[in-house]
Parts: sequence; structure tokens; C-alpha cells
Amino acid sequence: MTTGTWTRRISVTAVSVAALAGLAAPAQAATESSSTTVDYATWQQDCQSVMDQALPYLEERIATARPGEKQAIVFDIDNTTLETDFGFSFPQPANKPVLNVARYAQEHGVSLFFVTARPGIIYLPTEYNLEHDGYQVSGLYVRGFLDLFKDVAAYKTAQRVDIENKGYDIIANIGNSATDLSGGHADKTFKLPDYNGQLS
Ligand SMILES: [Mg+2]
Repeated sequence: MTTGTWTRRISVTAVSVAALAGLAAPAQAATESSSTTVDYATWQQDCQSVMDQALPYLEERIATARPGEKQAIVFDIDNTTLETDFGFSFPQPANKPVLNVARYAQEHGVSLFFVTARPGIIYLPTEYNLEHDGYQVSGLYVRGFLDLFKDVAAYKTAQRVDIENKGYDIIANIGNSATDLSGGHADKTFKLPDYNGQLS
């Protein structure tokens, strides 16, 4: 069996799983009456209203940077920088309200760091996806084997400490889960919706 065959098989399997997940979702929603499924337009509006608060803060913070200050923003990936739960394509589209803020920051000298609970095995496709969508990746932190045994919030906080130890001031930390934002080591946090844990 050649490598090409394996690659094709893996692709076909991935598509099949995605298709099945798409088919399974409505049935699951029907049986789990307690969960409400958010629609795309509502999610985008809710993300935009959070980014409408982030942008003026960043404009001010960037304009008043101290000489030599290395400013950074830390982002979560799934349902923060990418539209993870609203489609099954690869590369995944950017979450546009967040991309607009990220673009403003990177065009004004701010370094963008991405900290995700995604395992290390998908480092390269994730980096490719972010750059394909227009994010300038100064650093991408994925979970290594030993990190998989750690609490997600503690893991993410440790990565922010690492970024600070490289001399950056983290002016904002943007994510959609509480575990993205707890633990300090950022001047300000911006919480996108996760609708009580429905969005990863
Ligand atoms: Mg997330």
C-alpha cells in the first residue's frame, strides 16, 4: 500500500466522520431538549459586540505603548479565531469579527500568539489554517503529550507566562471559554460566547 492510498483513505474517513456528525447533530438536538443550539447569525452578532469593545481598547493601548514595549495578544483558536463549530471545511474560515481586530493589531506592530488545547499532532495544519486565513502567527502553543494530563486552564496560563518570559506584555487575552481566560497574565480579557459550553 502506498502513502498516497493512506492519505486518500484518511481524507475519506475524515469527510465521512464530518458528514455523520452533521447528520447526527439534528437528532441529538431533538433528544436533548435542555440544550439550545445557537445559529450562525446570532453567534456572529455576539462575537461582533465583544470585538466592538476590544478594538477601542486596543487602539488606545497601542497608541500609548511605552518605548521598546513588545505588545502581544493571546488568542484561543476554536470558535475564537476560527469558525470551528459552524462548518466542516478545511481550512476552516476565520471568525471575521476576531480577524478584523487581529488584523488591526498585527498591522500596528502587535505580535499574535495562539494557545490551544488542540494536541500537538495537528500543529502544522493549524498553523497553515491560521496563516491561510490572514493571521500572522508569532507563536502557536499546542498541547504536548504530558500537557494532556494537565488542567486546560493551568496549561493555558503556563503558556502566557512563557510568552511574558520572552519579554512580551500581553495587552489582551481573547477566548470563548472560561478556561482560556482565567489565571491572569494578561492586562485585559475579552470573553466571546460559548453558550454554556456548547462551543469548544
Ligand atoms: Mg474555544
